[in-house]
Amino acid sequence: MIIAVDGPAASGKGTLARRLARHLGLPYLDTGLLYRGVGLAVLRAGGSPEDEAAALAAARSLDPAALDDAELRGEAAGNAASKVAAMPPVRAALLEMQRAFAARPGGAVLDGRDIGTVVCPGADHKLFVTASLEKRAERRLKELREKGVEIIQERVLQDMKERDARDSGRSVAPLVPAQDAFVLDTSELDADAAFAAALEHITSRQRAG
Ligand code: C5P
Repeated sequence: MIIAVDGPAASGKGTLARRLARHLGLPYLDTGLLYRGVGLAVLRAGGSPEDEAAALAAARSLDPAALDDAELRGEAAGNAASKVAAMPPVRAALLEMQRAFAARPGGAVLDGRDIGTVVCPGADHKLFVTASLEKRAERRLKELREKGVEIIQERVLQDMKERDARDSGRSVAPLVPAQDAFVLDTSELDADAAFAAALEHITSRQRAG
């Protein structure tokens, strides 16, 4: 069974996807980490995430087994990721590894922006997890402050707006729900309620065959 979970930054899709994978005993891939890995590699080499040749070289030499660096979760890596992710050759270079992961026997859960539309258009279940910009910025701010990062709300909101615009406005694999995706708005849902709604959606479709 392949489950595609897409949505904007801080929508709760990662938490939900991880939990679904654990519950269903499926392997899980956070595809955002691949783009973050590329973005961070370019930054660390002293390059610019706007340099397509540098980003492509980093994508081609990315080791998917080496994505447990804490810095990958930071805002700098996230912003660089959304820049390299707008480059078609970078996306193409990362596509095969995502499809190979999804093709594991028994299936997998993948989360990202284009899993249901591009990476796994034939996924058994597609969820599009979203929430209002304000709620997502509020969650991200809380997360950052818990990590001890000093940042003001306006800055988080502004970064998130820019990232949304880049992810939704790019010409290749823009952030849009697949036509057959179940849209789950988590603005007023906590993690438990979002998980319950997603699981109910999946099990009712399974029952219907
Ligand atoms: O989900 P996360 O915030 O870790 O993703 C970082 C960036 O990587 C996103 O802003 C997006 O630009 C890009 N991304 C993507 N396609 C995916 C996953 C992430 O374009 N499947």
